[in-house]
Amino acid sequence: MKFTVLSLFPDILRGFFEASIMKRAVAGGLIEYSLVNIRDYATDKHRKCDDEVFGGGAGMLMKPEPLDAALAAAGSPGVRTVFVTPSGRLFNQAMARELAAQENLVILCGRYEGIDQRVIDTRVTDEISIGDYVLSSGEVAAMVLVDAIYRLRPGVISGESLEEESFSKGLLEYPQYTRPANYASMRVPEVLVSGNHAQIARWRLKASIAKTLAYRPELLSTDGLPGKAGELLREVIDEGGWYEPGTGYTGGTDQE
Ligand code: SAM
Repeated sequence: MKFTVLSLFPDILRGFFEASIMKRAVAGGLIEYSLVNIRDYATDKHRKCDDEVFGGGAGMLMKPEPLDAALAAAGSPGVRTVFVTPSGRLFNQAMARELAAQENLVILCGRYEGIDQRVIDTRVTDEISIGDYVLSSGEVAAMVLVDAIYRLRPGVISGESLEEESFSKGLLEYPQYTRPANYASMRVPEVLVSGNHAQIARWRLKASIAKTLAYRPELLSTDGLPGKAGELLREVIDEGGWYEPGTGYTGGTDQE
């Protein structure tokens, strides 16, 4: 998969593509990337990329000409092109999965007040927000998108890690522990060191449900959860054993 990121400050993204798991994915040929400086496509003497907003108001807007030329060079139209903007659709794991199926993805970073609407109308296929807050520019949002997407590509990380994480089954991930089993007088839940895989799976599902109910109840369907998960949801509610920050989740009264 190839990411092309267009920005006025592409160096902000360079370190991200040159470190850790991403570096390995690039070296292994799983991921390609190109960082494009939009200013390279400005043709006037001062290589100007912004101008005042028609109708008045504070701030500047990114001009259409350099954006148009930079996007055309990146393959637009004809390539999936995301503009990161707080006024876009809210990004989530389902969108990350869908975008991870693309072979080419262009991401356009805004600055100032954003970009001229005509560029959005002619070149952008998706307007995506990473959250209900306003950042000063789009580079961090672009990194959020790339990071959430590239790790879903085959071979980047193990499929097993992806199966068990938050949002994979519509729930938040359960609390996890590592050695030592007794740390600062806090013992890990007994069931996790029991070796009983069926009971461990049950505890994890129940803890996932409890945490989701406490932090993100809107993720739980209004029809409840299917099968075993539905039974465990009822148990969690009956026991009042919801996840509590600071105390973790004990499994309600249920410590088998
Ligand atoms: N005037 C814009 C508005 O009110 O919607 C905000 C512009 S913001 C200061 C500058 C740029 O940062 C945006 O064009 C966008 O690329 C990026 N940005 C800011 N917040 C973002 C968010 N929540 N999600 C994605 N991109 C964001």
